[in-house]
Amino acid sequence: MDGTEAPHKKPILATVSLAGCFGCHMSLLDADERILDVLAAFELHRSPLTDIKRFAKRCDVGLIEGGCCNDENVHVLREFRENCDVLVAVGACAINGGLPALRNEIGLEACLTEAYLEMPTGAGAEGIIPADADIPKLLDRVYPCHEVVKIDYFLPGCPPPADAFWALLTALAAGRAPDLPTELIHYD
Ligand code: SF4
Repeated sequence: MDGTEAPHKKPILATVSLAGCFGCHMSLLDADERILDVLAAFELHRSPLTDIKRFAKRCDVGLIEGGCCNDENVHVLREFRENCDVLVAVGACAINGGLPALRNEIGLEACLTEAYLEMPTGAGAEGIIPADADIPKLLDRVYPCHEVVKIDYFLPGCPPPADAFWALLTALAAGRAPDLPTELIHYD
């Protein structure tokens, strides 16, 4: 370095939970003290971990937990695609809809009727299906992320183990395509 080169810029990381349970984020934090290495390698931007809710800068990597069950999820996922160079679908919910997608077999109308009008406990006695304009509108079914935007990499698991997050982020921080060993991403 001759003193005129720009200092090495840390890659910027964003994360979000859409129709997920935050278990994938918890697994990322399960990296124990290695989380300090992640923070040393990346600048953490829009994420529930920073409570930053809007993109104020372009990000190198976006981690997406959860699929899309409502119109707000779609909006946020598209926003991540627009603002992140590399997008990773993290966990079963982001990759194939996961548990929330169980409702895909039932149909939205039947699902709402059962939940709010005809539930066995009788708690839906008011006979109202919530439809306030401020409530995100449910989609006809739960969509995996790659059916909404282009996804660059997939990290399977429910949740993916901390070691898999570590291997993924280490590769991306080094500018390499992640090539995870099979033992980190098989669950049989
Ligand atoms: Fe939760 Fe599993 Fe879905 Fe991750 S993949 S958000 S841990 S249910």
